[in-house]
Amino acid sequence: MGASLEDAGAATRTRIRRLPELAVRDPAILHAILDAGTVGHVSFVHDGQPYAIPVAYGRSDAAVLFHGSTGSRLFRTLAAGAACSFAVTLLDGFILARSAFETSMRYRSVLVLGTCSVIDDKVPALQAVSEHILPGRWSLVRPPSKKELAQTLVLSLPLEEWSVKVNDGFPDRSDEDEGWDPPVGVIPTYQVRGAFIDGES
Ligand SMILES: Cc1cc2nc3c(=O)[nH]c(=O)nc-3n(C[C@H](O)[C@H](O)[C@H](O)COP(=O)(O)OP(=O)(O)OC[C@H]3O[C@@H](n4cnc5c(N)ncnc54)[C@H](O)[C@@H]3O)c2cc1C
Repeated sequence: MGASLEDAGAATRTRIRRLPELAVRDPAILHAILDAGTVGHVSFVHDGQPYAIPVAYGRSDAAVLFHGSTGSRLFRTLAAGAACSFAVTLLDGFILARSAFETSMRYRSVLVLGTCSVIDDKVPALQAVSEHILPGRWSLVRPPSKKELAQTLVLSLPLEEWSVKVNDGFPDRSDEDEGWDPPVGVIPTYQVRGAFIDGES
């Protein structure tokens, strides 16, 4: 059994060791970061080689949901019960310090460990993924056919063993920086969606 959602952040494998003061254990923040992202990286080991593969995803209350081809190695490997990790990273800015060593980034990042289950009731999960990425789009488009559903694996990774790290700080200064006086602060970065480009031919 995995840890409960409440104590998941304390699990040994997901204990943040470097800068533990940046660790966040609030499931609401976990959910907010997952909701703000659109692409995650699923990592797994196949024949001794680690792979990190980007995927679109959605979320239910207690799991990350993603889908792919029944022919995909990633999805076949995960459906067979391989251990995986799932990472989402949101870049929030560049932290400009006086030293190269302290120059850093603002970010919100999530790591989830576990094994996936195959979802048999595919349509609601596919709808959740679609609504996560393009809210309102599902009701406008043709739903998946039986044949398309048969070609699709939908997986669920439980939000049981996870960690969240958030750096929203400013640069640190050390005595060794004396005499170095570049501009110091933060350059924020934002994710924006541009205006729709008509693609009808
Ligand atoms: C955009 C971005 C850029 C970064 N750049 C660097 C860099 O250039 N150099 C560098 O050393 N570090 C960088 N980090 C931080 C890096 O992700 C690790 O947190 C860091 O290397 C310390 O790892 P550790 O040895 O404490 O963790 P490990 O011992 O490797 O991991 C232990 C556990 O901590 C948790 N964990 C570790 N890091 C994260 C994280 N970021 N988010 C959520 N959970 C986490 C995981 O559950 C993991 O299983 C960056 C992070 C982000 C998001």
